[in-house]
Amino acid sequence: MNRFLRTIGLILLFLLLFAAAAFGGEERAKYVFLFIGDGMGEAQVEAAELYSVASENGPLALRGLAVRGKISTRSANAAVTDSAAAGTALATGFKTNNGVLGMDPSGMKKLPTVAEVARDRGMKVGVVTSVFLNDATPAAFYAARPSRTDFYEIGVQMVESGFDYFAGGGVNRRAGRKGDLKDVYDLAREKGYRVLRTRAELAAARPGTKIIAAASVGGALPYETDRPAGSPSLAEFTKRGIELLDNPNGFFMMVEGGRIDWACHRNDAAAAVRDVLAFDEAVKEALIFARARPNDTLIVVLADHETGGMRVDAERAAANLFPALSAQRESSESFDEKLERFRKGTARTFERMAPLLAESFGLHATSSAGRAALDARAKKGDGAARTALLSALSGEELDELRTAFAQSMRAKEQRKKDRDYLRRYGPYEPLSVTATRILNRKAGVEWSSFAHTGADVPVFAQGAGAARFAGEYDNTNVAEKILSVLGKR
Ligand SMILES: [Zn+2]
Repeated sequence: MNRFLRTIGLILLFLLLFAAAAFGGEERAKYVFLFIGDGMGEAQVEAAELYSVASENGPLALRGLAVRGKISTRSANAAVTDSAAAGTALATGFKTNNGVLGMDPSGMKKLPTVAEVARDRGMKVGVVTSVFLNDATPAAFYAARPSRTDFYEIGVQMVESGFDYFAGGGVNRRAGRKGDLKDVYDLAREKGYRVLRTRAELAAARPGTKIIAAASVGGALPYETDRPAGSPSLAEFTKRGIELLDNPNGFFMMVEGGRIDWACHRNDAAAAVRDVLAFDEAVKEALIFARARPNDTLIVVLADHETGGMRVDAERAAANLFPALSAQRESSESFDEKLERFRKGTARTFERMAPLLAESFGLHATSSAGRAALDARAKKGDGAARTALLSALSGEELDELRTAFAQSMRAKEQRKKDRDYLRRYGPYEPLSVTATRILNRKAGVEWSSFAHTGADVPVFAQGAGAARFAGEYDNTNVAEKILSVLGKR
């Protein structure tokens, strides 16, 4: 190669590196979405994907994002984090102790959050969740308290944040522990917020007003499985948020799928999967927005931790996950209420409970002759027989249900909660947990815990600056990556 060509080559290389720095490494986003699936590990995503594909709704949108990463999740004082410490790590870039919100482990020093940085740079800020607005994950973006259970103080900090859009269940303990403090919604109105309680009010809201949209009386949104027709979804709150926050200075929006975690604590795969799907619908709203502004929008989807030690047996689940889980008609939490009424009634026999188990979970008691007949038909390719066989209870499963039923029929204070009881049922209704666990096994889903685990969790990203979110890193690195994409102004 002669000297001239070598010089040209060097110039080209230099230009390429310069271009990479200018357009790749230094990419800026004006519109930033951070989606947090609470408790959503790899298995929860995989189960939801199988369910979605089998129900002919196609693959998950979040799994289609171009960039993949993985984050470690431990907190400052524990291998297994809670949502307060995990939310704080994601929002501020610093580890803290479990239970602490937006502060260092001493609970003395407030840590600034990415949402506050965005606000101070003149961007609009939205916080959307399917649980209550002052629960740990949303609160990690606007509050600083030594304890995540300081709900009232956290609610007060919410209205003092000056953020533009809050939407979700509502504010928990909004008049304080004893109910004698000034209502957080009244404080919000004094600060210029409009507190909206109905879908119609939210639909009529205009950009430029600060909004708190609270769909429930202090609680969470219903599980997606139980959501009544006409009540707002997480996707609807996200879509409305985008419309209200859109402005020339850009916005930062955090959207939490909070009930994925609650379902996983209960080992209820059907409820968890449908809440992952509801979360994915919210991600789709961001993708629709990004289509018109691909160079200015960053979408990051991740989890704060895994819940339940969920495992998916790929082969079994490929065939059985959808037929088994789609037979479940309500969440196990909703079934608890049925159980409560049953306990208060007369004739409390397992035989009278069995039809309720069939109705809510699709679990049927079948004689051994009946099973053999179904088996023969299924082997000849009869699909209906295959599904019926899947939901047929074995003698062992019936025994498991009878034992749990006997416990559930006792008054709560009369149950002997020894080690064996807690290993089987945790703090939940024995019959509800046993029914979902049996159904989940048939679906190819197993649980190892009623609590959070220390597993790494997945990251999906797309858009301006998304390349930064590739690879394996710690949950504390997420905030700095978001800040670098926001850039300096
Ligand atoms: Zn949890």
